[in-house]
Amino acid sequence: MKAFFDRDADPSLIRARKVAVLGYGNQGRPQALNLRDSGVAELRVATRSPERAAADGFSVLRPAEAAAWADAVVMLAPDEDQAAIYSTDIAPQLRQGGALVFAHGLNIHFRLIEPRPDLDVMLVAPKGPGTALRRDYEGGGGLVSLFAVHQDATGTARALALSYAAALGSGRAGIIETSFAEECEADLFNEAAVLWGAIPELILAGYETLTEAGFSPEVAYFECLTEVKLIADLIVERGIAGMREAISNTAEFGAMKGGSRIVTADTRTEMRRLMREVRSGSLVDDLRADAAAGYPRLRAARAAAAAHPIEAVGARLRSLKP
Ligand code: NAP
Ligand code: MG
Repeated sequence: MKAFFDRDADPSLIRARKVAVLGYGNQGRPQALNLRDSGVAELRVATRSPERAAADGFSVLRPAEAAAWADAVVMLAPDEDQAAIYSTDIAPQLRQGGALVFAHGLNIHFRLIEPRPDLDVMLVAPKGPGTALRRDYEGGGGLVSLFAVHQDATGTARALALSYAAALGSGRAGIIETSFAEECEADLFNEAAVLWGAIPELILAGYETLTEAGFSPEVAYFECLTEVKLIADLIVERGIAGMREAISNTAEFGAMKGGSRIVTADTRTEMRRLMREVRSGSLVDDLRADAAAGYPRLRAARAAAAAHPIEAVGARLRSLKP
């Protein structure tokens, strides 16, 4: 693995470009703010609801106008909308030798977008939510980013990708080289099988087990949800073996008895199945079908999550903080 830092990046490259950030959501807003604070002066935003970007002081254009104006377009609309935006607004407008920057490899890896051959096409994927990208940058640090080059039409794509990643703040933490395929498949797998899939489900299962057994919702919440943050910090700082040194023998003994009974051989079999669904593209096909139908599955899952009793407990506990 090769990691790059600020000393390996030339900040003047991205500062010399006209950069259009397309999409002003979870990633678009923090990326645009970090770019501006890193001295990228020629910066425009294109988004569907322009109010927030305008309130943050950005000039907002329509996607086609932004693409016509820009040297580099950053694709930060939802993944499932990017192919249509590329073909209607970007491909006909972006200048010869322009750059396309992605934050996730999906559209290139699954060939939903086949970019014009004259364009530089690169990936700069911050490893974490936009909230953390902005918070770490403002605190003088940065979030690790993965980067890759899919097309290097001008011979400068790699240097420009490093310059872009450094402007996001990732040169302070590490810019790690990968491929679109690896970033895409690993990210989709992790989202489904570990991070956003399994961890919340595990928290809910633990919470439900405790409350069913008669424990108070507040105690169940602290035990199963709040402490996840503390243990996550310990694991990231010290590794899993190091985390064990920071917990009591009692906790460690319980971990030894419980862990492999909850995450079983069946769990691993299911993880491998998810991996195959990611690789074959069937997970992405399902997402696109849901999007085309107006997101019935995603909306039902959001509503179910919001209706779970744990949310009311969390809201009550957060409101108690002085
Ligand atoms: P998001 O929060 O849903 O934001 C999408 C933005 O695009 C919104 O501002 C939306 O406007 C705008 N938009 C939607 N359709 C548009 C159109 N046709 N033309 C112009 N703008 C349009 O998406 P996200 O989570 O930031 O994800 C963006 C990309 O970043 C994806 O490739 C994702 O995989 C990647 N990524 C995200 C994160 C993260 O922190 N969420 C982390 C790493 C990588 P409206 O709000 O008006 O709909
Ligand atoms: Mg992702």
